[in-house]
Amino acid sequence: MKTIQDINFEGKKALIRVDFNVPLDENFNVTDVTRIEAAKPTIIKILEDGGAVVLMSHLGRPKGAQEKFSLKHIMDKVSEIIGVNVKFASNCVGEVAEKAAEDLNMGEVLLLENLRFHDEEKSGDVNFAKQLSKLGDVYVNDAFGTAHRAHASTTIIAQFFPESKCFGALLAQEIVSLKKILEEGEKPVLAILGGAKVSSKITVIENILDKVDHLIIGGGMSFTFIKAQGGKIGKSICEDDKQELALEILAKAKAKGVQVHIPVDVIAADDFSNDANTQICDINNIPDGWEGVDAGPKSREIFDKVVNQSKTILWNGPLGVFEMESFAGGTIALGNSIANATKNGTFSLVGGGDSVAAVKQFGFADKVSYVSTGGGAMLESLEGKTLPGIEAILK
Ligand code: AMP
Repeated sequence: MKTIQDINFEGKKALIRVDFNVPLDENFNVTDVTRIEAAKPTIIKILEDGGAVVLMSHLGRPKGAQEKFSLKHIMDKVSEIIGVNVKFASNCVGEVAEKAAEDLNMGEVLLLENLRFHDEEKSGDVNFAKQLSKLGDVYVNDAFGTAHRAHASTTIIAQFFPESKCFGALLAQEIVSLKKILEEGEKPVLAILGGAKVSSKITVIENILDKVDHLIIGGGMSFTFIKAQGGKIGKSICEDDKQELALEILAKAKAKGVQVHIPVDVIAADDFSNDANTQICDINNIPDGWEGVDAGPKSREIFDKVVNQSKTILWNGPLGVFEMESFAGGTIALGNSIANATKNGTFSLVGGGDSVAAVKQFGFADKVSYVSTGGGAMLESLEGKTLPGIEAILK
């Protein structure tokens, strides 16, 4: 696996695909800088080697060139974070971009306009990728968030750098962390899958059964399993058409020797709102008109034991409706358990959408081993797929 550490960038222009798809407020201020911070080590290494940096990214889902999706809005923030005055090219291809890249001196950084102002980016157009490829001597992919897409800048472009392409520090770290879970995990390996739906995680569950010793199924997803086994779930969310599948998963897990842990009790609410009335119920006996919204105290205790006995942990998906303060307790308790296990030497990876939001919100981001930067890319990796953006560098 070739990374930026394997290349001396002195005198070279590195064309880096970063993920600067950051949230902006109504005045175009960046409201979460995580993704810019995450790209910093790669940019700094190249500059310190004596190279120059050309940054390309998408921002949002523009329809053509729409001012509100311009990457110029984030130029100052990028300059501030990396500590170098960033130049800007108002188009990512063509004369403007080529001239700006050509004029770039070593030690300088150029940010290109939003790749998705051109439809060719998402369609993976070869000519568009070729135009982009003129802007650097070395292609670096550091965008895990888009590594599952065969877009021009994430995948197709790599063919124009047969000898001079590599992973950035962030993408390399994502690959190594995933490997620690899926291939090299120290036993016992535990996967915790929560969130709303069985259907969105089914391929993950099936793939992960071959890799883990323990599986915790929590959150809204658990009610499909409970109902399928004959439990009474009140008005909890449930995918009735997935009940048979839930039973098949449990049978497969048993056959593979995977211990499955499903909540035994829940916080039930009489309304889907933060100030609803609540009660603690046996998960198999939720009264009519009530719905399970968070893991109950006994479940939290059981999960804490499983977590603290594990040496490798993957966490994807919250244990309850954590967006509402009253129902965040189970997710916070789990975060605490994982933080504690991590302190005692367990490798923990949090990835895929809402659990990342939860660990950030509740202050666990620094207390786990690794927080992944890619939602969809993470899920597809956990499904066992080889991501096109990664494959294109390895080829
Ligand atoms: P996912 O995107 O599949 O990881 O699902 C995350 C969402 O699941 C969050 O918005 C949670 O509020 C939601 N969720 C978790 N537990 C429950 C539950 N018991 N009932 C309803 N929604 C839930």
